[in-house]
Amino acid sequence: MKLWRKPFDFHEQATAPSKVVLNKDRCKGCEYCVVFCPTKALVMSTEMNAKGYLIPVELPDGKCLGCGLCEAICPDFALWIVPLEAAQKGE
Ligand code: SF4
Ligand code: SF4
Repeated sequence: MKLWRKPFDFHEQATAPSKVVLNKDRCKGCEYCVVFCPTKALVMSTEMNAKGYLIPVELPDGKCLGCGLCEAICPDFALWIVPLEAAQKGE
């Protein structure tokens, strides 16, 4: 069976160095983004949000490749990715 598109169109995004932006107070600390990130760019931190959940944080070693999986998998739409260049400019 031929699919008319690939799931989440990851192949279009997977090569751009990116940064993860987190809306802390939407997060419920489920860890899906941490567990399923293919490059292990995220870890759970010891910081607690307003709801009392521990939140994830991106490691400073720039491992995020912008595949978009964390954004797609987060049940609470708490994080999204931006191209590294745009993030460094503060966009
Ligand atoms: S998947 Fe979403 S809700 Fe779950 S820990 Fe990550 S940011 Fe928080
Ligand atoms: S966009 Fe992909 S590589 Fe970057 S943190 Fe999310 S799951 Fe990991």
